[in-house]
Amino acid sequence: MILVIPDHNNKFFDISTYNLLTAASKFNLDIHVLIIGNHIKDLAVQISKLKNVSKVFIAESPNLVDMLPENHSYHILKIANNYTHIIFNDSFYGKSIAPKIAAKLDVAPISNVIKIISDNIFVRTMYSGSIIANVRCLDPIKILTLRSCSFSNEYIKDNMNNCADIENITISDNLGLSKLLKEERIVSTDIDITEASVIVSGGRGLGSKENFNNLLVPLAKKLGAAIGATRVAVDEGYAPNSCQIGQTGKIVSPRLYLAIGISGSMQHLAGIKDSKTIVAINNDINAPIFNVSDYCLCGDLFDIVPKLLNYL
Ligand SMILES: Cc1cc2nc3c(=O)[nH]c(=O)nc-3n(C[C@H](O)[C@H](O)[C@H](O)COP(=O)(O)OP(=O)(O)OC[C@H]3O[C@@H](n4cnc5c(N)ncnc54)[C@H](O)[C@@H]3O)c2cc1C
Repeated sequence: MILVIPDHNNKFFDISTYNLLTAASKFNLDIHVLIIGNHIKDLAVQISKLKNVSKVFIAESPNLVDMLPENHSYHILKIANNYTHIIFNDSFYGKSIAPKIAAKLDVAPISNVIKIISDNIFVRTMYSGSIIANVRCLDPIKILTLRSCSFSNEYIKDNMNNCADIENITISDNLGLSKLLKEERIVSTDIDITEASVIVSGGRGLGSKENFNNLLVPLAKKLGAAIGATRVAVDEGYAPNSCQIGQTGKIVSPRLYLAIGISGSMQHLAGIKDSKTIVAINNDINAPIFNVSDYCLCGDLFDIVPKLLNYL
């Protein structure tokens, strides 16, 4: 049996949930889903209607609302031994819980899975996507984080006429291993970069936070895009942490990725490889970003971006 742990915000599932379920169906095993959070009954009902889901577990409590790995992994571990596979999205949530679960079960987690070959052979990316490896896992429980954009989300299109059982498994003896003391949300546009179909992204070439805001934000608004940034742009304070794309940031897969004043380091490219069309603006003809771009605008961004904005 396979257990799927979806990302959600207690109100809505992350879009990756449908990709995870599509991937899970490749195993030809019973699919169970565990949702952990607070006031999540509606989510449980929603997912119980999806094809191939045979059981939905919920663990709900006010202490579980904050998606903290310590509290959530405790609930997963209570049922983990019933499964041959436990799969997560390759998000901050999944990546923070999967290793905890694996360590407790004394198995090796496999991250960044992009293809399922069989019950125990998986294709994963390594070294920022420079190597694609086929790995065979002989552990009795396979703990996987899946790169959701590598799997289709055909489940969305399926009609929802299933009716899986929903069971509450809230464990009351330990609900508060860790507590969230403060949360600071810094949002530059309303759109989440991991779900955005257009991303306007900036790097060191912007030179300052003021330039970043004055040039990129209007362009993003005009295009209905989310804002992304390189690690340097984040470290320099041009953009908040949540905007960082790349090996140590977020992995994105938009239809259109605009890379402005970005050199195209290996670590940044690791996060944008799945973009359908990449447009780069850079004044260095030899910038590595041009090697992966579909459209290369070689010139000064301070000249090109206002013209582009004006034209749009
Ligand atoms: C372990 C590790 C993990 C990392 N993880 C990440 C990650 O997740 N994401 C990430 O992005 N980086 C990451 N990095 C950092 C990465 O190596 C690069 O340093 C970073 O991506 C470079 O950012 P940049 O392109 O903004 O800056 P630069 O490399 O300095 O590039 C700036 C570009 O702007 C261009 N430019 C300058 N002025 C103009 C102008 N007026 N008009 C047009 N173009 C102009 C320049 O030609 C240059 O190509 C990581 C590094 C390490 C070691």
